[in-house]
Amino acid sequence: MSCRDNAADSPPDREAAVRTAHWRVAHAFDSALPGWLVILPLVHVTALDELPAEAHAELGGLLGSLSQALREVVGCAKTYIMQFSEAEGFHHLHVHLVPRMPDQPDHLRGPRIFGYLGASEADRVGEGERDRIAIALRAAVASSR
Ligand SMILES: [Zn+2]
Repeated sequence: MSCRDNAADSPPDREAAVRTAHWRVAHAFDSALPGWLVILPLVHVTALDELPAEAHAELGGLLGSLSQALREVVGCAKTYIMQFSEAEGFHHLHVHLVPRMPDQPDHLRGPRIFGYLGASEADRVGEGERDRIAIALRAAVASSR
């Protein structure tokens, strides 16, 4: 699915909040938590060390600038970063960058934050809200450069 999405000519804002030479930043489609981001390489790889050093450097910059942008846009206290790419159908490398909110419930802290992912249609952040967050993050990242 990530490869197919990469091929889209003009993806919606929620699928490409930020783009760099090596990466695309999407809002997770099935998250109940606003601002859950997924950073995807533009080429198909399944492990971080299959990418060139320039991609690693870009990723470091993105993690920093997007963390600051999430603080501004959704008001998080900090961010969590995770990379597994093991779920069936989701082996395309993807890095989760997730806002940790000031009032994050105890039972959804640390690795348990994944309780927000795989949400039912009714609980997911809607497309319009995902687009709005993506546009705001893009502006925040641009103003920090
Ligand atoms: Zn892929």
